[in-house]
Amino acid sequence: MTTQARAIAAIQRRVIACGRCPELVTYRADVAREKRRAYRDHDYWGKPVPAFGDPLARVLLVGLAPGAHGSNRTGRMFTGDASGEWLYRALHRAGFASQARQVDRNDGMVLTDALITAAVRCAPPGNKPTTEERAACMPFLEEELAALRGLRVIVTLGKIADDTVHRIVKTAGTYRSPRATFKHGAETQIALPGSPEATILASYHPSQQNTSTKVLTEPMLDAIFVRARELSGLTP
Ligand code: SF4
Repeated sequence: MTTQARAIAAIQRRVIACGRCPELVTYRADVAREKRRAYRDHDYWGKPVPAFGDPLARVLLVGLAPGAHGSNRTGRMFTGDASGEWLYRALHRAGFASQARQVDRNDGMVLTDALITAAVRCAPPGNKPTTEERAACMPFLEEELAALRGLRVIVTLGKIADDTVHRIVKTAGTYRSPRATFKHGAETQIALPGSPEATILASYHPSQQNTSTKVLTEPMLDAIFVRARELSGLTP
């Protein structure tokens, strides 16, 4: 295992053990105990969800937070709900994911050159973390950004993820271009301590609310990952 992979793994061990946000500690455990009827036979994860993917990634995806019955159930980012179906299908089409089908932590999925993380690692009620919870969890993302030495692209999935990454850049990085207003496909050039030059590439979140209303379509999401490959110097 490389030094970088060990650093990313060490961050994830601390994520999983974290209990900084008392309300989220209670909520994630309550959901795991009570369960949704469709998953009553499942053994819920019920803990903070670690980043998933390639620890040497050139592309980092940042989501909002685990879904109560998605990642909080399966223990893997974007796994076990409708958002994950969309995301992994797109990552597979773009060549980042070994398969389109996502079920649970043991489904054989392998990511190459992509790592998936989130602004907040515990499932929040109503998918809405508080300002304090977002601030409490931000240091984990900051550490990941510092550890990913070859990072070239940060895909922010939704405005909260985008705002969180920009907060980190403001304090720990440098802007190489003016900050782009959040919209699908917006790009901002930055430099971080770990990666000299990188691009924040904004994307609408693949939530059911966005995909069912066609605010986000599959071609729109595909375009993000084609651009991410271009920006990171990966073959199409
Ligand atoms: S949201 Fe983040 S900071 Fe809060 S308890 Fe979960 S892992 Fe810890």
